[in-house]
Amino acid sequence: MSYRGGRHFLQIPGPTNIPERVLRAMAAPTIDHRGPDFSRFARELLKELKDIFKTTEGRIVVYPSSGTGAWEAALVNTLSPGDSVLMVETGQFATLWSELAARMGLDVQFVPGDWRHGVDPAQVERILTDDSAHKIKAVGVVHNETSTGITSRIAEIRNAMDRAGHPALFLVDVISSLASIDYHHDQWGVDVTIAGSQKGLMLPPGMSFHAVSAKAIAASKTARLPRAYWEWQPMFAQNEKGLFPFTPATNLLYGLRESLAMIREEGLENIFARHARHAEATRRAVRAWGLELLCQNAAEYSSVVTAVLVPAGHSADAFRQQVLENFNMSLGNGLGRVQDKVFRIGHLGDFNDLMLAGTLCGVEMGLELAGILHSKGGVAAAMDYLTVAARQGSESHALAAR
Ligand code: PLP
Repeated sequence: MSYRGGRHFLQIPGPTNIPERVLRAMAAPTIDHRGPDFSRFARELLKELKDIFKTTEGRIVVYPSSGTGAWEAALVNTLSPGDSVLMVETGQFATLWSELAARMGLDVQFVPGDWRHGVDPAQVERILTDDSAHKIKAVGVVHNETSTGITSRIAEIRNAMDRAGHPALFLVDVISSLASIDYHHDQWGVDVTIAGSQKGLMLPPGMSFHAVSAKAIAASKTARLPRAYWEWQPMFAQNEKGLFPFTPATNLLYGLRESLAMIREEGLENIFARHARHAEATRRAVRAWGLELLCQNAAEYSSVVTAVLVPAGHSADAFRQQVLENFNMSLGNGLGRVQDKVFRIGHLGDFNDLMLAGTLCGVEMGLELAGILHSKGGVAAAMDYLTVAARQGSESHALAAR
């Protein structure tokens, strides 16, 4: 492939762009991970991470693995062979997690879904109410289904579990939502929150996280699925001393310290608002083009990724290829059931209004090149929205400064 000038637009929904500051922070000499400097640094980081999960009571675990490892770790630490687990088919990642659970020897009750809606809290309530013998030991939900651009309502699912009076553990995957979409580990009564480094935390892939409730720790004392590498207890014991039971991803942890500093500087609530604004601008562009969003419920629109259906008879992958070749931009592909039917616009992580405008320009030009029937004006609709939002932002800024 010949050289393409300018910056590549990486508009997949993770791994996301890594800020220069984070890249520079990782370019540091290797440290003795059993020495005193590392120990102080690790203890501080574990404490700081709690703010991101909005937990004061939960314990944090950091694994040198991708998110899939943390999926497995959540199951083996809390469950026993043959235990029933309730999961809902919201898309590709819920499907992969359910398949992993089945391979671990769990009895997965996988509620079919249409990939156009999130988890229905009323349905969870009905299933749990019917399970009067409490055979179901855990409910596993993907907060933001990255394959469909649909965000399930975790607080409402928690309320549904409470109304059913069911004691199942609540396991939530926030791999593509943490530090991008509001989330409350403690307040929403989540037992294991599962996260990854490569999306809202603006880091390379390779680290994953748990926030763990006291109830999950109690469950781990009697859980019998085989576990060794993923076991929480040695992790907790070593973490007390600022150490890990095996070699941590030291330079990724340097990057994490920097990304947490950036998150503090911008403020979590401002980050959530920025993501929501970019998602709304993107949806306005999609509507102006006359294309269809995969997500059918406005209450479940994702702030981090928008999945767009291409009209019947067109290939979403051929369109993405045109965009890559002509404009040096990678868009997310359709996964599983929606392969070649949708393209996904990632708008998460270290991202701003002009980057979004550039992204949407690439999509609009790509639609023309791929011969996909659409109306002009998507980019203009997004720009109008972003301009109004910017004006409101600077007016409220000016008011606050008075
Ligand atoms: N869960 C969600 C919601 C994801 O988006 C992903 C990956 O994109 C995963 C799980 C799997 O994580 P990993 O690819 O880091 O193993």
